[in-house]
Amino acid sequence: MKAVVCVEPGRLEAVERESPADLPEGWVRVAVSHVGICGTDYHIFEGKHPFLDYPRVMGHEVSATVLDPGTSQLVAGASVVVNPYLSCGTCVACRQGKPNCCTAIRVLGVHTDGAFCEEILLPADNLYPADGLSLEAAATVEFLAIGAHAVRRSLAPAGSRALVIGAGPIGLGTALFSRIAGHDVTLMDTSTERLAMAAERFGLVKGILAGSDAAAAVLAATGGEGFDVVFDATGYAKSMEAAFHHVAHGGALVLVSVVKEEIRFSDPEFHKREMMLISSRNATRVDFEHVMESIRTGRVPVEALVTHRTTLAHVPVDLSRWATEKSGLIKAIVRVAG
Ligand SMILES: [Zn+2]
Ligand SMILES: [Zn+2]
Repeated sequence: MKAVVCVEPGRLEAVERESPADLPEGWVRVAVSHVGICGTDYHIFEGKHPFLDYPRVMGHEVSATVLDPGTSQLVAGASVVVNPYLSCGTCVACRQGKPNCCTAIRVLGVHTDGAFCEEILLPADNLYPADGLSLEAAATVEFLAIGAHAVRRSLAPAGSRALVIGAGPIGLGTALFSRIAGHDVTLMDTSTERLAMAAERFGLVKGILAGSDAAAAVLAATGGEGFDVVFDATGYAKSMEAAFHHVAHGGALVLVSVVKEEIRFSDPEFHKREMMLISSRNATRVDFEHVMESIRTGRVPVEALVTHRTTLAHVPVDLSRWATEKSGLIKAIVRVAG
């Protein structure tokens, strides 16, 4: 079968590989249909991912068609969305129904070879029927589920004033699901281009430019009160630290993206607000189902999210280029088959 391998940082190669061999009990053989390219994939390509062994086949935002359902309830030919978080099923987190933060989690395309290839094997529990979704739309479900999970974690009720910091794909997904939850959403980003794109494509018209005037703009936008819930999806420690100041008294801060270094905050600033500080990691089946239902009912404009398209054969050239040419790029999708 055809596959694209990241041989080492900066080097992607299209290769011929053996199809995966024996199907383990409870696993399913699928033909990959579409794969989204994620910030994580660019990081792997650039050699910025902290714990990753090369060579690696990337790709974790996946739609597929069932080839061999094995002993599962799935049927051959069915379209599925892949949940790429492979969990152990027995650890403390898994026992609490939180496989998204399994102590032994392995993410497809990160810790184990992923979907930039024609066929993969996956546990049946990680495949969700994608009825009513196009196979391209089905490949956007995973990254949107990250935002849907963060919004669910926030517990913020309808009517909350929400600030989403970072208007990249994860931030936009968070903003869309925050709006679906009935929040009054404002975006913050360092790029006027990205804020303009969010307004134009998604009607997310309330925007604040990040920078030295941001704190004053937050107060101006909220009658001096701050936001009831703030989501940080920037991947920058400085932004996460500044976000504490944008939260209203009694409000919540949800850290969606993760950084390698420590973040610091003033305890009095945190305490006087009785702030809830929440981390959000990956997503679970509930979030995937919520995203699929939201796409089916037309509440998520997938066609406005997918700005770039390519095929498996062109991934080595196109992914290398998009790693640096980010203008106008929200989500790029690779068509493998279908
Ligand atoms: Zn991703
Ligand atoms: Zn586990």
